[in-house]
Amino acid sequence: IRILAIESSCDETAAAVVVNGRDVRSNIISSQIALHTLYGGVVPEIASRKHIEKINQVITEALKEAQMTLDDIDAIGVTYGPGLVGALLVGVAEAKAISYAKKIPLVGVHHIEGHISANYIENKDLEPPFLCLVVSGGHTHLVKVLDYGKYEILGRTMDDAAGEAFDKVARAIGLGYPGGPKIEKVSHEGNPKAISFPRAHVSGDAYNFSFSGMKSAVLNYLNGCQMKGIEIHQADVAASFQQAVIDVLVGNVEKALEETGMKKFAIAGGVASNGTLRNAMEQACAKRGVAFYRPSPILCTDNAAMIGAAAYYEYIAGVRSGLDLNAVPNLKLGER
Ligand code: ATP
Ligand code: MG
Ligand code: FE
Repeated sequence: IRILAIESSCDETAAAVVVNGRDVRSNIISSQIALHTLYGGVVPEIASRKHIEKINQVITEALKEAQMTLDDIDAIGVTYGPGLVGALLVGVAEAKAISYAKKIPLVGVHHIEGHISANYIENKDLEPPFLCLVVSGGHTHLVKVLDYGKYEILGRTMDDAAGEAFDKVARAIGLGYPGGPKIEKVSHEGNPKAISFPRAHVSGDAYNFSFSGMKSAVLNYLNGCQMKGIEIHQADVAASFQQAVIDVLVGNVEKALEETGMKKFAIAGGVASNGTLRNAMEQACAKRGVAFYRPSPILCTDNAAMIGAAAYYEYIAGVRSGLDLNAVPNLKLGER
C-alpha cells in the first residue's frame, strides 16, 4: 500500500510517500520557522498563506523523490486535527482535491497519532502494546498504545505543554523562537544544578503534568536577579530549567512503567528530539529492562512520514474519510 501523506497543522508544510506504513520513500518538509522567528512565535494567518504557496511544491517533490506519480498512489493520508484551523484546511482541501480527481481513498489522520506512529518507521519490530510519552509544542500526553489506532491516555498536562514551556522560557532568557532546540544547545554550556527550580508534581491523578508553574519560577528568578542586580547566567538558567522538565517527565514515566508493568516505552513529538531527555529516558528504561524506542530527531518534529505511517494502520483497519472531511482544530486522540 503506497500512501501519499500530507501534513500542514502548524508551521511545517510537509508531504511524504510511505509504503506499508514503515518504508519511507520520501519525506519533504518546508519549514516556516525563519518566517515566524521574526514575530517570536507562529502567526496563524501567515502560516496558512505559506502552506498555500508551498503545498503543491512539496507534494511534487515527495512524488519525484519516491520515483512515483499520483497513478502509483493507493491512498492519501492527511492531518485533519488538532492544529491551527486555517493551516489544517490547506492540507485537507489539497488531499480532498487529489482524492476526488484521481479517485484515491482518503484517510484523515490525528496529528498526535502521527507523532506516536513516527516510532514505527525506524523500529520495524515495534508493535503495540507499549507506553508512549508524547511531548510536543501543544501536547504532553502519557499514553498507553493498546493497539494500532487505540489509545488510553494515562496522563496529560494541566496547563502548558512541555514544548510550550521550552518556547516561553527561551523567549524570557532572550533565546528566541523556537525555544526547544536553542535551550538544548546553550544547556551544554550550563550547569543543570545551578538553580533549583521546582519539580511540579500534580497531586491526585498519578500521571498528570504541570509546566506553567515551572515557567513562572524561571520568570520569578529572572525578575529577582534583575532587582538585586545579579547578572543572569543564560546557560545555567537554561540547563537548570531543562533538567527540571526532564526530571518531571522521567518521574511520571518511571511511575507508569512500574504500575502498568509495560515492557516497551517510546517517546514522540518535537521535545523528544532533545538529546538530554532521550538519554535520561533511555537510562530509566535500561534500569528496568524496558525496551526504549525513539524516532530520529527529524521524525520527532512535524513531518508527513509519520502521518503516512499512521494513515497506513488506519487504512488497513478500514478507515476511510469522505469528501466532506473538515479540519477539527481540537480533535481528541482516539476520536474520529
Ligand atoms: P503539536 O504536535 O502538539 O500540535 P507542534 O506540532 O507545534 O505541536 P512539534 O512540531 O511536535 O509541535 O514540536 C515543536 C515543539 O518541540 C516546540 O515547542 C519546540 O520548542 C520543541 N522542541 C523542538 N526541538 C526541541 C529540543 N531539542 N528540545 C526541547 N524541545 C524541542
Ligand atoms: Mg513546527
Ligand atoms: Fe506536532
